[in-house]
Amino acid sequence: MTASSTGLEVLLSNLQKAADVESTLNILNVLDELLSTGTDRRIFYMISKGGSEALLSALINIGTTFNPNYTVLLPVLHLLAKVGHRDHCIGMKAEEAGAVLLTLNLLKHNVKHARRAAALLWVIQVFSSSVSTAKLIGENGGLDAIYHLIPQYTTKHLTTIQAAIHAFAALLCTKTHITFAVSKGYISGLLQLYEDWHNKDNQHVALSICQALLCCFHKAAKSTIGRQAFVTQGGIKVLYQTTQKCMRIKGLETLVEPSVQLMRKCLPKTPVPLKSDHSVYTFPLPTPPRPHEMNMAPDDTSEESDLEKDFEESNNSRDYDDDLETDVNKLRLRPEPDRPKALFSQYSHLCPELLHDFQELDLSSDPDESSTASSDEEAVLLNSYSARSTRRERTRSTASGDSSTSYDCSHSDTVMSTQRSTQAPAQIHDYPSHRSILSTSPGFRTTMSEAMRESPPGQRGDEQDGDEEGVGESHCCTMIDSLLERHGACILYHQPKLYCAAAARTKSIPGFNILAFPDFWGHLPPPKHEPMAPRRPNIQRLKVLEDVQRFLNSADIINKVVFDLEDSSLQCPSDSLRFFSKFECGNLRKAIQVRRFEYDLVLNADANCSQHMQWFYFEVSNMVADIPYRFNIINCEKGNSQFNYGMQPVLYSVKEALEGGPHWTRAGEEICYFRNSFSPTQGRKRTTFYTLTFTITFKHKEDVCYLAYHYPYTYSSLKAHLKVLQKSVDPAKVFFQQQILCSTLAGNSCPMVTITARPASRGWKDLHQLRNRPCIMLTARVHPAESNASWVMKGTLEFLCSNDVVAQGLREAFIFKIIPMLNPDGVINGMSRCNLNCEDLNRQWCKPDPELSPTIYHTKGLLYYLNSIGRTPLVFCDYHGHSRKKNVFLYGCSIKETLWQSGSPVDTVRLKEDPGYRTISKTLDRIAPAFSFNSCNYLVEKSRSATARVVVWREMGVLRSYTMESTFNGCDQGIYKSLQTGTRELQEMGVKFCHSLLSLVKDMTILYSNRLIHHINLDHNILDHKSHNCFEDDEPPCVEEIEYSTYCPKLKGSDLDSAVDGNINSVDEEEGNEGKCQQDCVSQSPQSTTKGLLFHQQSREAPFEALSEKRNTYNSVSIANGQITSSGF
Ligand SMILES: [Zn+2]
Repeated sequence: MTASSTGLEVLLSNLQKAADVESTLNILNVLDELLSTGTDRRIFYMISKGGSEALLSALINIGTTFNPNYTVLLPVLHLLAKVGHRDHCIGMKAEEAGAVLLTLNLLKHNVKHARRAAALLWVIQVFSSSVSTAKLIGENGGLDAIYHLIPQYTTKHLTTIQAAIHAFAALLCTKTHITFAVSKGYISGLLQLYEDWHNKDNQHVALSICQALLCCFHKAAKSTIGRQAFVTQGGIKVLYQTTQKCMRIKGLETLVEPSVQLMRKCLPKTPVPLKSDHSVYTFPLPTPPRPHEMNMAPDDTSEESDLEKDFEESNNSRDYDDDLETDVNKLRLRPEPDRPKALFSQYSHLCPELLHDFQELDLSSDPDESSTASSDEEAVLLNSYSARSTRRERTRSTASGDSSTSYDCSHSDTVMSTQRSTQAPAQIHDYPSHRSILSTSPGFRTTMSEAMRESPPGQRGDEQDGDEEGVGESHCCTMIDSLLERHGACILYHQPKLYCAAAARTKSIPGFNILAFPDFWGHLPPPKHEPMAPRRPNIQRLKVLEDVQRFLNSADIINKVVFDLEDSSLQCPSDSLRFFSKFECGNLRKAIQVRRFEYDLVLNADANCSQHMQWFYFEVSNMVADIPYRFNIINCEKGNSQFNYGMQPVLYSVKEALEGGPHWTRAGEEICYFRNSFSPTQGRKRTTFYTLTFTITFKHKEDVCYLAYHYPYTYSSLKAHLKVLQKSVDPAKVFFQQQILCSTLAGNSCPMVTITARPASRGWKDLHQLRNRPCIMLTARVHPAESNASWVMKGTLEFLCSNDVVAQGLREAFIFKIIPMLNPDGVINGMSRCNLNCEDLNRQWCKPDPELSPTIYHTKGLLYYLNSIGRTPLVFCDYHGHSRKKNVFLYGCSIKETLWQSGSPVDTVRLKEDPGYRTISKTLDRIAPAFSFNSCNYLVEKSRSATARVVVWREMGVLRSYTMESTFNGCDQGIYKSLQTGTRELQEMGVKFCHSLLSLVKDMTILYSNRLIHHINLDHNILDHKSHNCFEDDEPPCVEEIEYSTYCPKLKGSDLDSAVDGNINSVDEEEGNEGKCQQDCVSQSPQSTTKGLLFHQQSREAPFEALSEKRNTYNSVSIANGQITSSGF
């Protein structure tokens, strides 16, 4: 239908010629009719054919005449508003045409003509979508002119007022304009107007006026000066009060969300209540920290969100595909080793199974594995620990000095409490062993106090490890013994005394000497599955409004620090909760009581740095039962969290544990996670913090409870656990050996375990089979906050040591090299992401520093060694936790998939790639309920080039090199759908991962295996896995905005259209009718008021008849009925 599309072009060209009024009106009529039906596609088509330019030139032609003919000009403006709203370049086009100032001048001449003014204001609004055009308008008095068109509360000319407010909002797109508006008092004027409208407009007829005003405030709030003006003029109070009203009245509901977002955005920035953002824990490094951690450089623009910065923020979302590695050489070629080959052989001792001669098989005596274990790993039993224990603690006295205050746990003789250390702040040079103990009775406390009196802080030293120890020690042991005897649960693989012993050797920066009860006592998964918590509707809104109250009624806020890691002398009021976190894995820096039952909590940054707040684990006591306590963790850093999608923190009650229920359970209600108004204490670049808020109702009064981000799993737990495992294995069948990979920066040993089957005999054949078993290397917990990875690893280790027939088969098929905790120092000190050098260890694999990242350096060294002796692992898998996704899934590496996804022109057909990298995930999808194949991906991203997965794949040539991510929350598919994962499910995942390895045994020449397949249901698809795209975020956008910086209510194109159409059809604002109010006019029939109606109702109903009649006007253009609409667009 080229004739028709030519028709459009001819129409546009005739429009510009503007021959006579009648024909111009007709053209406009036709165009409007064409554009007002169907979708925006027609408008975009018209724009592509020069529609905007034609309308602009018509505007110039008519508008520059001495006495413009508004009968024609108005429809031009109306159409220009509709079209320009969809034309990204309209501002630039208008400037080129010289239409910008013309429009502004016309407006200045038509302030008394409501309809004309409205049409001109829409056009100005549309022009101002370009910042340079807005500037031009501003420089020529546009802001003043438009502001003065906005009258006080009135019921007249609502359309024009709304158009003026929107045009004004559109101009507030530069800092200069906002500053100007503030200096002229316009923001406070508009605020006054907003309040007036709410007070006087009882019929709520002007919802759209209020929306337009909120739009103005949002634009102004993009700049610091705008926000300040808004706050100083009482904007928050006005919004708070009007919002209360809006929430009650149904029709006003749409004003609530923009108001809440605006309050959140304008709440004055408050520094996090700390002296410094830097971690309380510092550790002297062998070499000075690298420059990147010097992120303390003052940032003079830390005020945040100058407009320019805001715009940057919204633009820097990196395109994922850009991150994909497209350099085929980087994907295919193996880099040179990062160290001389001569250094590889030092790792030979880490393959004891290859060196061992199994002489004991001849002697047929029980082999003693521990004889080959390192002396450091030798049994550290409670007795030996006890003898070395010192008194470094005393009871923390209450305000009254009553040191025997106890927490009655209803067991008259088993009063629980935890000793508080009053040690001086962490001594950099002193990393005492963890001489920990759990205080369990008032009697014991007394002993501790006495000991403390003899050795006040500052005078303690090793020489204090003296005589009085015996008394307390024996007392303590007795207490623990009797407690355990009476209440101890039988927890498989957990022995409290062994835990004590392990903890005693753990080296922490602050020198922890208290054990957290749950780690000591042990944990059993709760009997029932725990569903995800339903999100209460509008929960964030309610929480933000509570926070706004704090600002408005600051006098009602208690604001009392009740716990401070840096101030152990702090006296906690008797009626507040008590907090404590100075124990292994603990993280809580400060607690501030803000209301009677509400506390702000501040997390400690990773040691030696001022970032990465995510993990928390602390003790809370002195509670009242059945009262909802609100907790706000105010310095979280991640941009979103599963806490917005049904995840709950975990809670452990000592009282429940002593009553036979030693469970970490999911707990907390009214949970949400959102950006708050806190800022860093010093000029740190990062300026965004998020609040995690949740409410806990404690079941028992005066209980001692623990709250954590996720199920804790300490380094000492691992050590104790390995010890128990070692004892548990049948040495006749299992070769289990624990060794030390290396020592960490803080001097903790990094354990490595070798598990395989003992050979049947010392015969050549059996030894040969053993020494040719492929190697599987598994690692975990490089990121300290990812405790779920440790629970998965626990499942793997226990399974591999078990008598299960599949485990036996796997041991006979493979040699397992397991490094269960790659970052002990981070775990011990309650960190979230880094090592003590403040580096993400999973970004150090390309060239790990032997001194600063020893665990990575030596793990890689062991891999080099295995490589050099031709024993490259068949599988490498690093266990992680994922804070933003559900399910468990694998990340792997594939050249082909990466090239395909990146759209690389490389011919992938000729590239050879073993598809075996998918076998394990396919198997897991079928056998592991929590696993989701659809969440897996095998893309090699540049930003991940230094991770374990990519380096082991690329440098070591391990085809099956993975990161296994386990959710902190739960699953959205399969039989665990809508349930939160517990330690049982995490451990099960560790077992299933082992099962999946059988799928590799199948294609090997080793004999066994097929008989084992049926044990794990490999071919039985029992699970209903939902399919979804792995490249998309797992979660839909949160119901409520987490961020507020990008939020801005927008006028939709359709809204503008209907406003314009309203202006066409209404007569209320026609000259001469000014006195009439709109409501009067609404009742009039449009047909009855043809005066001033530019697009006559009649012609709107039958445009094509009209066109046919006027056909001659268009010269030779042939437009048949309907044709023009059905083609070209
Ligand atoms: Zn991780």
